[in-house]
Amino acid sequence: MIIESDLKLDFKDVLIRPKRSTLQSRNDVDVNRSFTFLHTQRDWTGFPLIAANMDVTGSMGMARALSRFGAMTALHKHYKADELAAFFRAEAESATLSNVFYSMGIAEADHDKFQAVKAKAPVGKICLDVANGYTERFVEVISRLREENPDTVIMAGNVVTGDMTEALLLAGADIVKVGIGPGSVCTTRKMTGVGYPQLSAIIECADAAHGLKGQVCGDGGCTVPGDISKAYGAGADFVMLGGMLAGHDECEGEIRYEDRDGNRVPVAMTFYGMSSDTAMHKYSGGVASYRASEGKTVEIPYRGPVENTMQEIMGGVRSMMTYIGATRLKEVPKRTTFVRVGAQLNTVFG
Ligand code: 5GP
Repeated sequence: MIIESDLKLDFKDVLIRPKRSTLQSRNDVDVNRSFTFLHTQRDWTGFPLIAANMDVTGSMGMARALSRFGAMTALHKHYKADELAAFFRAEAESATLSNVFYSMGIAEADHDKFQAVKAKAPVGKICLDVANGYTERFVEVISRLREENPDTVIMAGNVVTGDMTEALLLAGADIVKVGIGPGSVCTTRKMTGVGYPQLSAIIECADAAHGLKGQVCGDGGCTVPGDISKAYGAGADFVMLGGMLAGHDECEGEIRYEDRDGNRVPVAMTFYGMSSDTAMHKYSGGVASYRASEGKTVEIPYRGPVENTMQEIMGGVRSMMTYIGATRLKEVPKRTTFVRVGAQLNTVFG
C-alpha cells in the first residue's frame, strides 16, 4: 500500500501574497495571452477563459457573447450535426470562430458526426472530453484525431497528474484539460472516492505540460473570481467554467419565473451535471457512458446577461495582477506566491 503524504491543495487552502510593484492601476495590466499550439502551430490571442461544454453553458449564444471579451466557449455535444455546421459556417468570417471548440466524446458515432460537420464547415478547435482520461482507448483516439486533423487544435481530458498530461500531449493533444471531481455539480468524489485537489492538480500538470511546450486548462472548481486568479497563478493557461457562467441569458437552461406585482420575472435556472439524471433523461441513454459517475441537478439564481459576470471576472483578474505587480497575464505564475491558510473568508454576514 502506497500513501502519498505530501500535502495537496485546493483553491480554498491558499491565498495569493501581495507584492510590491510600480503598477498604478488596473488599466495598466493586460489580461490577454498569446499561444502557439504545440502540434498545429496555430496562434491564438485572447482572454484565456472557456465556457464549459455543458448543455446549459456551452451554447451558441454564450460563444458569441464571450467572444466579445476575447474569451472562448466549448459548445456542448448535443447540438445536431446540421446545427453545428450552420453555426461554424455562419461564424466563418467572425472572431467567434477562433474562440469556439467543437466538443466530442470517443464513441465511433462522435467521430462520424465530427466528420460530417467538418465536411461542411470550418472547425478549428476540438474539445475531446471524457470523465476518465486515463484509458488506453482515449490515448488512441487522440492519436487518430491528430493524424486525421493536422491543422486542428485539440484540447483533451480530463486528467490530474503530470505523467498522463505528458502522455496526452505526446499522443497529439495541444491543450490538456485538468480536473477530476472538483466541479460544482459533480459527484465523482462522493460516488467513487476518486479525485485530486484542483490547485495541486493544476500546478503539477502545468509543470509537465510546459516542459513539452503544451498548455493546460484548469477545469472545474472555480466558485469566485479569486479562484480563477489562483488557477492562473498555479500555471493554468486556460480556465474552464461551468457553474460561474450558469444562470445567464445566454445559457440554454430552463428558467423559472415568478409573478411579482403582476409582472412575470425570471428568478432561477436549472443547472445540472452532464452525467446527472436530468442530462441522462434528456438524452435518453445517450449520455450514460459520458461521465463515469453521476452529477447533480441544482437550481441557481437567474443572473441576467453574462456581460456583467465577465466584467466582474476580468476586473478581479486585473486587480489580482496589480496586487502582485504582473503587467501581463503570462507573468502571473512567476509573480505568484501562495500562502497556505486555515480560513480565507470573513463569513460574519454570510
Ligand atoms: P464548475 O465550473 O461548474 O465547477 O465545473 C465544470 C466542470 O465540471 C465541467 O467542465 C466538467 O469537467 C465537470 N462536469 C460537468 N458535469 C459533470 C458531471 O455530471 N459529473 C462530473 N463528474 N463532472 C462534471
